Amino acid sequence: MSASVHPDDYAALLAEIPAGQLYIGGRFAPAAERFAVSGKADGRLITECASSSTDDADEAVAAAAAAWPSWSAAAPAQRAQALRALARLLQDHSTQFVALESHHAGKTVADARIDIAAGVATLNWYAGCAERLDGRLVAGAETLHRFVRRESLGVCALILPWNFPLLLMLWKLGPALAAGNTVVVKPASETPLSALAFAALAGRTVLPAGVLNIVPGAGPTVGMHLASHPRVAKVSFTGSTANGVRVAQAAAATVKSVTLELGGKSPVIVCDDADIPRAAAGTAAGAFGHAGQKCAARTRCIVMESVADALVEKLVDQARALRCGDPMDAATTLGPVISRNAQQRILGYCDAGVAEGAALVCGGDRPHDVDGPFVQATVFDHARNRMTIAREEIFGPVLTVIRVKDVEEAVAVANDSDYGLAATVWTRSLSRAHQLSVRLEAGTVSVNTPAVIGVETPFGGRKQSGYGRELGVEGLDAYLQHKTVVMDIG
Ligand code: NAD
Ligand code: MN
Repeated sequence: MSASVHPDDYAALLAEIPAGQLYIGGRFAPAAERFAVSGKADGRLITECASSSTDDADEAVAAAAAAWPSWSAAAPAQRAQALRALARLLQDHSTQFVALESHHAGKTVADARIDIAAGVATLNWYAGCAERLDGRLVAGAETLHRFVRRESLGVCALILPWNFPLLLMLWKLGPALAAGNTVVVKPASETPLSALAFAALAGRTVLPAGVLNIVPGAGPTVGMHLASHPRVAKVSFTGSTANGVRVAQAAAATVKSVTLELGGKSPVIVCDDADIPRAAAGTAAGAFGHAGQKCAARTRCIVMESVADALVEKLVDQARALRCGDPMDAATTLGPVISRNAQQRILGYCDAGVAEGAALVCGGDRPHDVDGPFVQATVFDHARNRMTIAREEIFGPVLTVIRVKDVEEAVAVANDSDYGLAATVWTRSLSRAHQLSVRLEAGTVSVNTPAVIGVETPFGGRKQSGYGRELGVEGLDAYLQHKTVVMDIG
């Protein structure tokens, strides 16, 4: 088990961020306005953060544009070295970042540790990609010399959600920088601190000024401004589907390349031949991890009738075993949700589930022994796929169980969703595993494991879960453009 953390553990990191300042062109500068950033469980004020204006965003884009020519012309090995240095920097400060992420994003220590370790791995992996950047020579007539170059795009705007504040920045930053782009990051207003602290450290020791700029601020103003900015070449957005649509519309006017990582309502199929204890533990982890505030949370459990009673009984055991509390306390296994508003919204979904006739078998309420924006791990049984709790992204620790008679019905229910991010199958049958992995409409399918993400493999959605991919070599391609060169050498 991880050790507990305390705000003192990140004091040195916080000292890197002057209150109320944004980070542009390698230095901090005051912004006209500020907003408060607080701990998500205790509501304690941590610091005041800069609220950037659209003028600030213009300045950040100009700084990134000025830094781009030399960053993109540098030998890829040099960028690889920088990425490895960033990985070491993060590793060296990992306890501090774990503590900051735990307090300001409300992540359990265990979840925060996983994020930071994955961030280090992401930077190292894309350092390797930078070293292997190449193009293609295309055969033709002997007097024809043709090749395809892969070139960077320019200034990329990275717009981030609050659930994985640092890690999702690094998913984008790693490949963007490896490919030779420079970036302007708009962190979520709830969680801007880890991105700012990382930029401060990176700018002091590794990155040239202007390569990484951070403009915290409101989505509808700063985010929208970046998405429509004529000098921004690409927008990589992670967040809700509704805001992703707005970003894509804003980006369309200047024909920007766009990657959208949006919401989900991902299914788990538990077959009658599954290892039920493992399936229950994996399903609980997939649904309740980070209090269900994960895009790839597997929130619809589609189970064959003959094993449903046994599975639900174990799911309830798993849910009841989770302990709500201070996320910085290592004994806590279920942290807070992001805000009181989110708590109200999630509890509203629980009421809707009861009203629609699903069977509430555990949870459905705030915990009675802890104060703060907590929601008990909740399981609904006997739900129907047309119910609100089966269709809408709740973004809280709520699992909806739908009983089906066979594999055919399971696939039909799983695919009957506006979303298509991830899917998980529990079965001992090799042929079922393969057949279902082909038939499920999802960007990632996992079999007999809740783990759907690895830095080496592409991650992203279908349908209203978005388009484009992050991670893997596909994630690098998303920050490159092809140029064909044709020469007559006869
Ligand atoms: P959100 O859409 O509210 O905000 C995401 C970011 O967009 C924030 O930085 C916000 O300030 C900004 N924003 C808001 N309105 C904007 C606008 N009009 N123009 C430009 N930017 C704008 O999402 P959230 O509440 O931070 O995060 C939760 C959502 O993110 C969930 O739907 C979740 O599924 C999704 N998510 C998806 C993935 C994935 O990889 N698919 C990963 C994490 C979270
Ligand atoms: Mn939001």
